[in-house]
Amino acid sequence: MNRRKVMQLVAAAAGGNWMTKREAAAAQQVARATRGLPSPKIKDVQVIQTAPGGLRLPVVKVLTDQDGLYGYGCACFTQRADLVVPAVEKYLRPFLIGKPADRIDDMWQAMYNSSYWRNGPVLNNAISGVDEALWDIKGRQANMPVYQLVGGKVREAADCYGHASGSEIAQVVESAKSYMARGFRHVRVQVGIPGMEGYGARGAGATAPMKSLHGGPMYEPAYYIRRVLKLFEACRKELGDEVELLHDTHERIHPTQALQFTKDCEQFKLYFLEDVLSPEDIAWFRQVRAHSTTPLAMGELFNSPHEWNPLIAERLIDYIRVHVSQAGGFTPCRKLAAMAEHFSVRTAWHGPGDVSPIGHAANVTLDLVCYNFGVQEYSAFNERVQEVFQGCPVMKDGFLYANEAPGWGIEVNEKAAAKYPFGYGEQGGKKSLNGGWGEVRKRDGQIIKQ
Ligand SMILES: [Mg+2]
Repeated sequence: MNRRKVMQLVAAAAGGNWMTKREAAAAQQVARATRGLPSPKIKDVQVIQTAPGGLRLPVVKVLTDQDGLYGYGCACFTQRADLVVPAVEKYLRPFLIGKPADRIDDMWQAMYNSSYWRNGPVLNNAISGVDEALWDIKGRQANMPVYQLVGGKVREAADCYGHASGSEIAQVVESAKSYMARGFRHVRVQVGIPGMEGYGARGAGATAPMKSLHGGPMYEPAYYIRRVLKLFEACRKELGDEVELLHDTHERIHPTQALQFTKDCEQFKLYFLEDVLSPEDIAWFRQVRAHSTTPLAMGELFNSPHEWNPLIAERLIDYIRVHVSQAGGFTPCRKLAAMAEHFSVRTAWHGPGDVSPIGHAANVTLDLVCYNFGVQEYSAFNERVQEVFQGCPVMKDGFLYANEAPGWGIEVNEKAAAKYPFGYGEQGGKKSLNGGWGEVRKRDGQIIKQ
């Protein structure tokens, strides 16, 4: 061995020693930051399949190699819930076992890219389940609620809207009054259309104004529009100007009708009009925006956060309606909210009964930490749901409060969850379609978007 080679070896050894010291110092810092716990590794990924409220709620549980350290995430695509289960068990589970549980964004990017073809609702919900479980784990490690991990509160609680509905206009008004009596300042109003399959309210067996050419559920957009404008008129007359009224068209009308309808709504000063266009028709937002000041909410059907970008950047909508698990979970939605803040577009995360309480906890966490929060959709947690999900966010006077326990603050009682398997409470078509939706057609038989 020549002298030059020996010097190279010495230099390498010295370099090695220096790196070792540096690594030791870094390891000490990590130990302080993680309270002495080593970085947890993912040991198992499971799916809890439960339907305590009659809607299928797939919830992912990620377990780590540290005793008692685990977390839960919402993966709720209730209309195709059974497909989310193998997406997690057969693909994400083997991909994730042994990987670090404390590198959340890194794991999100890894999961997102690992299927190559991406941005589908099944895969995004599966990713969300893991993503939110990792946030839950980090909160439990830090002994803090997740809202503390991402900067802390900018408000005390989330102002919510409830769902007032009825077959008749008078019933909707009464339903809205009951929400207002409970302290709600925002109410979504939906009314049935006689003899038709309305969204958010049923016609309750009333006779339809015309006969259909088919025997199934029927819906005619023009009838809906006339009916709902009468509803708004009655609501303003009976409920006054103070209450904030919201409404969901559920993408059931033609863009030409949307233009006129949005203008006609102006006089009633809605808080927002939701999904007046379908995702396939978003290019019409420019025209709708140019002709009306009615605030617009959009986006619960989008999959990728990138789908909101043009609507936000051009300021064509006022509220982003995101089904957080559909978009891939807490991580991408936090980024989306931050992007929207720059354009003064506000958040209104999707919060119906087909979001699990873990998902509602993620929603309210975003509500508390995002400056550009607008309003939160609220669905009550019934007794069975609270039996399974212990520590649900708490509603008081129209405000939703986060649980102050670490992580999402929710424990899942898996024994109770097993009492309400997928399909619990389902009847008729929903049961035969495995929790999926049926079909609604116009009078002539043309299928409509639901
Ligand atoms: Mg909606």
